[in-house]
Amino acid sequence: MTETLNRQILLVEKPAGKLGPEHFRLTQTAIPQPADGEVLLRVRCISLDAANRAWMHGATYRSAIETNSVMAGGALAEVVESRAPGLEPGDLVFGDTGWQDYAAVPAKHLVKLPRIEPLTYLLSVYGIAGLTAYFGLLKIGRPKAGETVVVSAAAGSVGSIVGQIAKIKDCRVVGIAGGTDKCHWLTSELGFDAAVDYKAGPVFKPLKAAAPNGIDVYFDNVGGDILEACLAQMNLFGRIACCGAISQYDGAPAAHGPRGVPGLIVVKRLTMQGFIVMDFDDQRAEALADLQTWVASGRLKVQEDIVNGLENTPQALVGLLAGENRGKRMVQL
Ligand code: NDP
Repeated sequence: MTETLNRQILLVEKPAGKLGPEHFRLTQTAIPQPADGEVLLRVRCISLDAANRAWMHGATYRSAIETNSVMAGGALAEVVESRAPGLEPGDLVFGDTGWQDYAAVPAKHLVKLPRIEPLTYLLSVYGIAGLTAYFGLLKIGRPKAGETVVVSAAAGSVGSIVGQIAKIKDCRVVGIAGGTDKCHWLTSELGFDAAVDYKAGPVFKPLKAAAPNGIDVYFDNVGGDILEACLAQMNLFGRIACCGAISQYDGAPAAHGPRGVPGLIVVKRLTMQGFIVMDFDDQRAEALADLQTWVASGRLKVQEDIVNGLENTPQALVGLLAGENRGKRMVQL
């Protein structure tokens, strides 16, 4: 190991409105020493997730991020030194290393990964994005062939995989995304049947045209007004997989929409269920086998958006929240 210093990005202020690069600071410190039961990791690739912003609001399915600490975040990392059984130098792992070059992390908080090439797939299609899409769609949405599946944030990392799996399951698939370029990409490259540009105006009417037989499964990444529009077009016994609420994460004026939920749920006998990808940890092997088969056969296209350099991580997250990315955004170190 030739380096002696560890670059870190601290969250120095929690944003009151939109997140900006000014809420972070790059600093340097000594490379940490692993304690008993820990490993020293060299971070290779940081996963950027919309949820990074949600963690700043307070405790979610994890504890809140504190200011003046290293910004939290999942990453693909390589073991440099091990003081824990079961992990050796050179092993690849996934864990919450935070935004820094090196981290000393308890081995029990890490998932050991196989060396699959390209390694970035371990963060995209075989990482949290792919598994979230797989479990959320198939276990919560439970689509049947011929049904209509709608997914929001459809050109993002989770959404782009949801739509493609729904096509593999012979569904009619409608994506909701921001901008004509993204919408065109969904239909021309990823095989979606239709796409609705939510930035062009309210989605209710274009969605009705794109899903003339109503919606059987709605995979909700955004919440808010888009969820409200989809709820109103759900078919009897429809399922809504509540994956995230990105429209509410980044300084939205006040949590709003959807209205009229209880009545609709009763009359249409809808199921609306939230989930966290970790709920399905015991079914990971089955999911990875399916995802690998679909990627190998070319039925599932992997779209990655790779930014280089730790120092660019804050701007990369700001850009993700603004919709800059197509597919899985990550930062390679
Ligand atoms: P994405 O790669 O999907 O990127 C986020 C995208 O969201 C942007 O590209 C942008 O695309 C879109 N977006 C931003 N603001 C809005 C808005 N106001 N309304 C509609 N779309 C918006 O990010 P992730 O894959 O990290 O996250 C997708 C969702 O999945 C999030 O809700 C996240 O919390 C959730 N998630 C949930 C997990 C779980 O276990 N439940 C696990 C992992 C992720 P556009 O240009 O189209 O606006």
